[in-house]
Amino acid sequence: MSDGVNPTDRFTLSEDRDYDAWDPSPADSAAKDPSTKPLAPGLYLVATPIGNLEDITLRALRVLRSVDRIACEDTRQTAKLLSHFGITTPTISYHAHNESSRATELIEALKAGGRIAIVSDAGMPGISDPGATIAAEAIAAGVTVYPIPGANAALSALIASGLPAESFTFHGFLPSKEGQRRSVMEALRARPTEHTTTAIFYETPHRIIDALADIVTIFGAHQRIVIARELTKLHEEFLRGEAFVVLATLRARPSIRGEIVLLLDGTPSDAAAGPSLADEVETLMKSEGLSEKDALKSVAKSRGIGKSEAYREWQRSKR
Ligand code: SAM
Repeated sequence: MSDGVNPTDRFTLSEDRDYDAWDPSPADSAAKDPSTKPLAPGLYLVATPIGNLEDITLRALRVLRSVDRIACEDTRQTAKLLSHFGITTPTISYHAHNESSRATELIEALKAGGRIAIVSDAGMPGISDPGATIAAEAIAAGVTVYPIPGANAALSALIASGLPAESFTFHGFLPSKEGQRRSVMEALRARPTEHTTTAIFYETPHRIIDALADIVTIFGAHQRIVIARELTKLHEEFLRGEAFVVLATLRARPSIRGEIVLLLDGTPSDAAAGPSLADEVETLMKSEGLSEKDALKSVAKSRGIGKSEAYREWQRSKR
């Protein structure tokens, strides 16, 4: 193998790290059937679906069935998942507001040989969700921590974005306050080495327009971006293109709903200097079917200038 991984080491079926490699021969796989093997003591960080319930792994289901307790960000949310899969393991809450007191209690149980799973409402615990603190405390207490991989919104968005995926930075949620949000973007813009990688953010539907308007101001109207909305769900959608076009598309909608991942292309582009206002108006008329007047209004808004100023510049650039 070019990556130096022995193919027989690649797939195993147990939490025990010294467990034999998987062998698909029927006699052997029955003997090694992990469902017949008790789960090792430790802390299990279990990824759950981000929408589509089929995106849970067989291993995650087995771990959730076998642990003593499941610590959940929201027990009611996790109850729906557990009931769908017929899992009856007891749950307790573990969220931002009781993280440290609950962690102490859970670490004691783990030190006594317990098996505890941590799940968030969706995706990977610890990724813009509770999980990292208890993992660090468990490690400090000498408890084994097992990642149980699965769905994650940032990576799912990245791989289907069409943007370079070799190097990327994940920034979690953009700050809700405008000043802080702009500072994050300006810092990203000012760091050329970082901005040559794809940047990934989580954003809420009610702030996405403001965030895109800031991108247009800070990175330029022609910054290539991708919006990944409602991943793995019925209304999954990708909007890929220049920031000002995506902004106009979303602005034209009566409402914006669902969960969103926002990605910024980090590839240096000649377009960064930006085409003329007239080019932008024409692009919006073609891509969004806007009238000349509405396209001009939208461009003026995304450039942060008045309508009459935009009109004058439009006339000039048309000459
Ligand atoms: N732990 C999760 C993960 O591994 O992706 C992230 C949890 S964070 C509290 C929730 C945010 O993740 C949402 O506001 C949204 O930005 C993003 N997200 C979660 N599910 C998503 C989905 N199905 N489609 C798009 N974005 C999603």
